[in-house]
Amino acid sequence: MPRQLFVTTALPYANGKFHIGHIMEYIQADIWVRVQRMLGHQVHFVCADDAHGAPIMIAAEKAGLTPQQFVANIAAGRKEYLDGFHIGFDNWHSTDGVENHELAQDIYRGLRDNGLIEVRSIEQFFDPDKGMFLPDRFIKGECPKCGAKDQYGDSCENCGAVYSPTELKSPYSALSGATPVLRSSDHYFFKLSDPRCVEFLQNWTHETGKLQPEVLNKIKEWFTKDENGQGGLGDWDISRDAPYFGIEIPDAPGKYFYVWLDAPIGYLASLKNWFDKGGPKAKYGETRSYAEFIADPKVEQYHFIGKDITYFHTLFWPATLHFSGRKTPDNVFVHGFITVNGGEKMSKSRGTGIDPLKYLGLGMNPEWLRYYIAAKLNARVEDVDFNPDDFVLRVNSDLVGKYINIASRAAGFIAKRFEGRLSGDLGVEGRALLDTLRAHRDTVIGLYEAREFGKALREIMALADRVNEYVDAHKPWEIAKQPGQDAVLQDVCSVCIEAFRLLTIYLKPVLPALATQVEAFLQVEPLDFHSAARALGAHRIGAYQHLMQRVDPKLLEALFEPPAAPEPEKVIPGGEELAPEIKIDDFTQVDLRIARIVKAEAVEGSTKLLRLTLDVGEGPDPQGRPVYRNVFSGIASAYQPADLEGKLTVMVANLAPRKMKFGISEGMVLAASHADEKAQPGVFVLEPFPGAQPGMRVR
Ligand SMILES: [Zn+2]
Repeated sequence: MPRQLFVTTALPYANGKFHIGHIMEYIQADIWVRVQRMLGHQVHFVCADDAHGAPIMIAAEKAGLTPQQFVANIAAGRKEYLDGFHIGFDNWHSTDGVENHELAQDIYRGLRDNGLIEVRSIEQFFDPDKGMFLPDRFIKGECPKCGAKDQYGDSCENCGAVYSPTELKSPYSALSGATPVLRSSDHYFFKLSDPRCVEFLQNWTHETGKLQPEVLNKIKEWFTKDENGQGGLGDWDISRDAPYFGIEIPDAPGKYFYVWLDAPIGYLASLKNWFDKGGPKAKYGETRSYAEFIADPKVEQYHFIGKDITYFHTLFWPATLHFSGRKTPDNVFVHGFITVNGGEKMSKSRGTGIDPLKYLGLGMNPEWLRYYIAAKLNARVEDVDFNPDDFVLRVNSDLVGKYINIASRAAGFIAKRFEGRLSGDLGVEGRALLDTLRAHRDTVIGLYEAREFGKALREIMALADRVNEYVDAHKPWEIAKQPGQDAVLQDVCSVCIEAFRLLTIYLKPVLPALATQVEAFLQVEPLDFHSAARALGAHRIGAYQHLMQRVDPKLLEALFEPPAAPEPEKVIPGGEELAPEIKIDDFTQVDLRIARIVKAEAVEGSTKLLRLTLDVGEGPDPQGRPVYRNVFSGIASAYQPADLEGKLTVMVANLAPRKMKFGISEGMVLAASHADEKAQPGVFVLEPFPGAQPGMRVR
């Protein structure tokens, strides 16, 4: 009978894009899920955006959006990452979905009916300007211990002190700057300290082999009371006052569930949404409803999470499920964080983190990262370090050098010499090698199942080493040169191809896209763990095309290059782009001269133009009369004619005469204006410094 599995990853908070930590968790869970699927088990692998809470409400307000719009924008960006790294979720939903509202309220009613909800009045900081209670992170002030300014309400970044917001000196609201006032409000508590909860959790967390040893040790600390009876499991404040983006608490107007109450319920909501859409029916012929499925004791429920949210998932979550009459998780798989270069703290601005989209944008193969992360992962709660040199080495030496090369060394001969036909009989030594490879199948599966991915890949690479030893011992490239050795060559190459097929099966959970390419090349049905037992025999394979490139180390340099400083915003002088560059000769073609405005007069029928009479030093004529130019200029809005007369200015003296409605214009007077005269009105006629004479050239 196939196992029935319900698997989740932690719900990402919908206030930002995925970072490499999310991608690592998804890759870990995706590999594990693919293993189950390749064994023929039925898996429902779901996730959702964690949509609620004050930070999203406030971020949405800043962005001028409703929280729903804000979250929808974030959700729209998820697919690019998930498809990009071959993460095969069955369903992606949101904790703001209707299923989650119903389930959260239902679970709450169950806890309340069990006598595990208590209402208490607590004092909290209230922002009188915003009309809301302030979350700790939105209260700032001076640290009560060291006096550092602008510290958050929960802890000091300067001295590390931890305190409550009411201890801050000179507190202010980070939202409005107002001085917060203390107000009391009724809050709803889940009584985790109730002896029933403590006893249940003691049993649940200690069930043999369930939780990782490090996780269990941490939980023991949380259970322990000190000699004064302090510590131990405390009650949990699960309510927040309006305004809050979240789910309303039944029969408690103006009260909402704290985001951490409804977030894990989002796992169930996403599964319900998947069932209601008919996904399991289409995929597995599942006829049961969500409610029937999740109540089945045979259904196994697993959550992949990071170590920072262990408390929520190993204490609150099983307790809320159990005391609302639901099944509890079969296990919670906790992983560490991902660090870069020996634990350097990741920072985007310093470029030491890995931006998943930048990785894809550089054309880096997503399966290199899947392979590298898998090679570093084990079942313990350890941080994974991304080391660029190690990354290049593992991909190039192991993945390409040991595994891909097996196919590339054998496939050419099969295609060229045997029309793609493999041997049916492989010889004693070849069969022995392949039997060895097949014999390791269950070991590999067991390591994957136990999330010992690094060990699984080491096992597979050791098998690849055996195959390469076989290739080096038989040297197909030399057999190919010897006459009459065709049958031997075909056998040796067929052993290599069959070995490559077996290794591909073992690597398929890590390298699903590559495996698809291999299936096309081998002309076989999708590979699973059962297909390891069935040899290809005298099968015909397709043409070999190179399956995977080596990593160019330059790509890693590019990946870690800090993002370029944003281009300084271009300042456009006068609101207008500069004209294309010219040479000095181009400029000298324009003959600019000093001109004296002899006369200026309004033009009848035009509100824009003034008629100017200009002396450009061209007179007198042979009869002794002055020679003047007649120029129409669009400056009537800026100057009274009388203010211009007698002034010097600059004109274009060699401009072809232009016939206008009011007469011929013999040149052009220079004036300055902004490109957008409506935005910045004004026309300013040029005037030379004192001493210039009419007729002087401007150069
Ligand atoms: Zn301090």
